[in-house]
Amino acid sequence: MPFPEGRRNGRPPGGNGGGESPMLEQYRRIKRDHRDNVLFFRLGDFYEMFQEDALEVSTLLNLTLTSRNGLPMCGIPYHAARSYIARLLRLGKKIAVCEQLSGPGKGLIERRVVEVITPGTTVDEDFLEQGSSNYLACLAAAGRVFSFSYIDLSTGEFFATNFPPETAAGSLAAELERLDIREMVVAESLLGDYPEMARLIAERPGMVINRWADWLFDIERGREKLKRQFKTAGLKAFGIEDAAPEIISAGALLDYLDDTAQSFIPHVSAIKIYGGGEFMEIDDATQRNLELVRNLRDGSDRFTLLEVIDETKCAMGRRLLKRRLLHPLCGVETINKRLDIVEVLYRDQTVLAALREILGKTPDLERLCSRLAMDKAHGKDLFSIKNALSAFLRIRETLPGLFPSEDEADSFVFESPEAGSFGQNDFAAIEAARELLERGICENPSILVTEGGLIREGYSAELDGLKTLRDSGRETLEDYLETERASTGIASLKIRYNRLIGYFFEVTKTQLSRVPAHFIRRQGIAAGERFTTERLAALESDINGASEKIVDLERKLFLEIREKTKAETERFTAAAKCAAELDAAASLACAAARRGWVRPSLDTAARLSISAGRHPVVEAHLPSGEFIPNDLELDFEGTAFALITGPNMAGKSTYLRQAALIVVMAQTGSFVPALKACVGIADRVYCRVGASDNLARGESTFLAEMNETAHILRTATKQSLVIMDEVGRGTGTADGLAIAWAVCEELLEHIRARTLFATHYHELAGISHPRMINRSMDVAERGGEIVFLRRIRDGPAEQSYGLHAAGLAGLPVSVLNRAAFVLEEIRGGKPGRKTPENDRAESRNKSSARDGSSGRNLERFARDLAALDLDKLTPLDALNLLQTLKERYACALRQPEPKRAEPVRPSEPSLFEDYGPVRDV
Ligand code: ATP
Repeated sequence: MPFPEGRRNGRPPGGNGGGESPMLEQYRRIKRDHRDNVLFFRLGDFYEMFQEDALEVSTLLNLTLTSRNGLPMCGIPYHAARSYIARLLRLGKKIAVCEQLSGPGKGLIERRVVEVITPGTTVDEDFLEQGSSNYLACLAAAGRVFSFSYIDLSTGEFFATNFPPETAAGSLAAELERLDIREMVVAESLLGDYPEMARLIAERPGMVINRWADWLFDIERGREKLKRQFKTAGLKAFGIEDAAPEIISAGALLDYLDDTAQSFIPHVSAIKIYGGGEFMEIDDATQRNLELVRNLRDGSDRFTLLEVIDETKCAMGRRLLKRRLLHPLCGVETINKRLDIVEVLYRDQTVLAALREILGKTPDLERLCSRLAMDKAHGKDLFSIKNALSAFLRIRETLPGLFPSEDEADSFVFESPEAGSFGQNDFAAIEAARELLERGICENPSILVTEGGLIREGYSAELDGLKTLRDSGRETLEDYLETERASTGIASLKIRYNRLIGYFFEVTKTQLSRVPAHFIRRQGIAAGERFTTERLAALESDINGASEKIVDLERKLFLEIREKTKAETERFTAAAKCAAELDAAASLACAAARRGWVRPSLDTAARLSISAGRHPVVEAHLPSGEFIPNDLELDFEGTAFALITGPNMAGKSTYLRQAALIVVMAQTGSFVPALKACVGIADRVYCRVGASDNLARGESTFLAEMNETAHILRTATKQSLVIMDEVGRGTGTADGLAIAWAVCEELLEHIRARTLFATHYHELAGISHPRMINRSMDVAERGGEIVFLRRIRDGPAEQSYGLHAAGLAGLPVSVLNRAAFVLEEIRGGKPGRKTPENDRAESRNKSSARDGSSGRNLERFARDLAALDLDKLTPLDALNLLQTLKERYACALRQPEPKRAEPVRPSEPSLFEDYGPVRDV
C-alpha cells in the first residue's frame, strides 16, 4: 500500500528542504496536546517517534535512531507495538497512539490520537502484572490536611483517606512503599509548597507523576463527580461527609481518568474511606526492614514473608494476600473470622487440596469483570469468564456450606461486603450466564470482533446456515437445481454463472414450454434462454455475501452475549471476591500445614507471649529442624521492655524480627511459627535496624537513623510493638551510647510500648528499671571454641565477640591483630571501670605482649613520653602518670608463654588466636 507522505516510501518526513512538510506540521500539532506522552505516530506499517521522543525511546528500548533532515526519529512495526508499549509502561512512560484515519490518497492523511495508554489507567492484561495491584493515586492539599486516594482501575477498587499535617510526610511515605503506585496525580502547588512530600514522590522509581493545576482540585467539583460516578444523591453511604477532605483527591482522580482513559468505568461503583485505625500502621522503613513483600537486596519477593506465606493458586488470591499482608488488622473479630476459615481448611486437607485444584484453574475474574463492564472484553475474555464461572460452581460443590441460603444472615466466611452478600440464590444466575457463554462462545475465540471466529456452532441457526452456505455454497445450489429439475421436469436444466448477470438457469429451446411462472427471464442466447428466480437470487447473494454476513452476524451475536453477560457483572465481581478470599485463606492453611504453624490467639490485652517462636523466613531457608525456637514474654502493663545483648552473629536480629513478623502474621489472619502465641493487638509495629543493615539502600547515615528513631518516639503508643536493632551506631561511641540510653528511658518511662531493643552497648544493661528485663543470646565456650547456641537467656551478655565476626567475615589477620591491639589500648585507657569486659581486656593485654608486640609498645611508649608537656605537669600528675604507664606497659616486659593448641590460622602468629575458632551449634 503506498503511503505518499511517509519514510516507508522513501520521502523524508522531516521537511522538504524549505518549510516543514504538512505531515510534520500535523505531527507538531498533535504532539502539542501530548507533551507528556510518547507519541506513537502511525506512518504506514510503522509507529514513528520523532525528536525528544525518539531520543528517549531509542535509548530506553535500544532502537536504532535515525535522522532525516536533522530530525531524530525511530520506529517500530505496528504489529509488534504491544510488546514495546508494555516495556515503556514498565519504565513509567505514557503513550499516545496516533492512528491514520483516512486511506492513502492525494492529500495529507487524517490522523488522530485514538488512545492514551498510561501505567496507572491501563486495564489490558498484557500491560498488567498478574499478581499485583495496579494503582493510580492522587494527592492534594485540603485545607489543613492532605487528601489522598488511589484506585485500581483493573479491579475497580477505590480508596481514600486524609493525612493530618504533622504526620503527612510519614503517612505518604508509608503508602508509597506499601502500594507500589504506578502513577500519581499531584496538585502543582503542593510540589512547590511541601518539599519533603515532593521529594518522596520524585524519588519513587518508575512512578509517573502528573502535575495538575490547582483549580482542578475542588471540593464542589469532586463531590459532583463522585455522585455521578456512583449514581447516588449523596456520599453519606460511603461514610463521606459533605466537607470531607477525601472528596478533593478522589474527585480529581476520576477527572484524570475521564481525561486520560476516556472510558466509561461503571465498575467503579464505591469508594472505601480508611485511616480510622482498622489497620495496623507500618511505616515505610518498617515495611522494608521486615522484608514483608520485597527484600532489601534486590527488591524481589525472594526471602520475604510473602514468599513463605504465598501458596495462592490464582492471581486474585495473590493480590489479596499481598494486600492483606501489608494491611494487618486491628479488629480481633475480623482477624478471628479470617483465622476461622483458615482453620477449617487447615483441618480438612482433602477439601483444601480439592479447593486449591479448582482455584488453580480459575482465571482472573476480577479483572475480566472490569473489562466486561468497560465494554472492553473480547472473545477470549468471555471464554475465560465462562471458565471462571465453571470453576466457581465447582467451588460450591466442594464447599457447599460456605454460602448462606436466602433466609440466612450474611456469610460467616467472607469479609468483603460484596463476597459476604453472595448467597445460594445467586448461583442460578451464575449458572445461566455460564450456560449462555458455553453455548455461545466457541473454543479458542478470536480477540477481534471484526473477523468472525467467535460464536459456537448450534447457537444460531441463521449463522450456521450462513456458514454452511459459505462452506458448501455449490452443494446448496445443486440441491436447489435438483428441486427445480424435479418440479419442472426439465432434466437438462443447468445452473451457470457469469460475471455480468451472476447465477442463472439455462433452458434449452426445446424445453422452454416447461418453464414455470416463477422463472424470471434474464437473457436470450442462441441455444435457449437464461432465467433467475427469487430463490436463486437470494442464494446468490447469500453465497457472495456469506463471509461478510458471517462476520457481521458473529459480531452482533457476540455483542448481544456480551451485553447479557455484562448485566451480571456485579454478581461476577462478588464471585471473584469470594474466590480471592478463599484462595488467600487456602494459601495460609497450606503454608501453615507445610511449615508447622499454629493458630494464634488474639485479644486486646497487654501481653505478647510467644512460646517456641521461629523466624518464618530464616527457618524456611535452613535445613529442616535446624532453626532454634525461642520464647518471648512482654506485657505493656508489666515488663514491657527487653534489652537484648549478645555476640555478633548470635541471632539477635533474627529473634527481634521474628517477634514482629509473628505479630504481623497473626494480625493478618495467618497461623504463626510457634508452639503457642498470644498476641495482644499492636496498633503499630516499628522495626528500625542499624545503619549498617541499611547500606544496601544507601541510607546508612546517622541522620536517617535518627529520623527513624524520632519518628518512633513521636508516634508509638503503649499499644505498639517497637523493634530497635542497634540505635546510636552511626556516631561516636559516647554520643551513641548516650542517645541509646535516653531512647531506652523514653520508651520505658513515657511511651511504655512493648519493646525489643538489641544493642552492643553493654552499658545499657545498667539501666535499672522495673519494666525492663535483660536478655542475651547464649554462647558457649567449649575447648577454646565459641559456640552460638541461638538461645535467648536471662541476663545481659558479657561481650560482643566483634573481632570474631570480623574474622569470620574474612578480615585480614594483620588487620585483626591490629584491631585486637587497639581494642586493648582503648580498654586500657579507661582505668577504674571494672567490668567483665575489662577483665578480659586485661588478660588479652598480657597476651599481646606474649605475641611479640613489644616493639610496637615501646614505640608507643616513646611517643607517649614525647607528648608530655613537663611545664604543665604537677608532681601528683607525674606520679599518677608513672603508675598508669607502669600498668600499661608492664606486660610488654614479661616472658612469652607457649601458644595454644588450636589457633584459628596456625600459619600466622595472631593476637586473635586468643578467641579460638568459632563454629555454629
Ligand atoms: P549482629 O549483632 O552481627 O547483627 P545478630 O546477633 O543480630 O548479629 P543474626 O543476624 O540474627 O545475628 O543471626 C546470624 C545468623 O544466625 C542468621 O543469618 C541465621 O542464619 C542464624 N540464626 C539466627 N537465629 C537462629 C536460630 N534461632 N536458629 C538457627 N539459626 C539462627
